[in-house]
Amino acid sequence: MKNKALYESLVSAAQSVIDGDGDAVVERMQVWLKDSIPIMSRSAVEAWNLDWYASIALEDYPVWQADAGEELLQLIRFEPSTEDSLAMAIRDVFWHSVSLETAVECPRCRDEYLRVLVKPSTDEIVLACDACSWAQTTTGRRWEESELLRPASRSAIGNLKLTNPELFVHSK
Ligand SMILES: [Zn+2]
Repeated sequence: MKNKALYESLVSAAQSVIDGDGDAVVERMQVWLKDSIPIMSRSAVEAWNLDWYASIALEDYPVWQADAGEELLQLIRFEPSTEDSLAMAIRDVFWHSVSLETAVECPRCRDEYLRVLVKPSTDEIVLACDACSWAQTTTGRRWEESELLRPASRSAIGNLKLTNPELFVHSK
C-alpha cells in the first residue's frame, strides 16, 4: 500500500467508530472522508465518486449503520494493495450504507437483490446488482448506459414505493 498514512488514518478512524457505541458510524466516516480527500490522489477520488459521498446530506438517504460497520471490519482485516483499491473499499462502505435493496432478485446471477439507484443527469431510477453489474429499469428493461449511477435518495425511494410497490414485496 503506497499511501500508508491514508490507510493508517482510516484504520484508526474505523477502529474508534467500531469500538464506540455503533452510533452514527456513517456520519463519522463521512467526516473522515472529507478530511482525507485532500491527501488522496485525484484519480482515485474521481474513479470512485468519493467527492459525492463526502458531500451528500446523509439525512436525505436511507442509512444502514450496521452495514457500514461490517464493511469497515473488512477494511481493517485486509489492507488494500493499492490506493485505487482503498478508494474502492471506501466507496463500498458508503455504497452499502446509503443504498436500499429491493425485493427483486437479480435476473442474471440470482445472487443479490437489485439496489435502487439513480441516473444523476435525469434522476431516472435504475435497479442494479452489486454482484454481476446487471442493471435494469423499473419495468425490467435492460440498462446499458455508461453513466455512473448513484444510490437513490429517500424521497426518490418514497416515490418509487408509491408507483411500484411490487418491487419491494418478497415473493417467497
Ligand atoms: Zn446479478
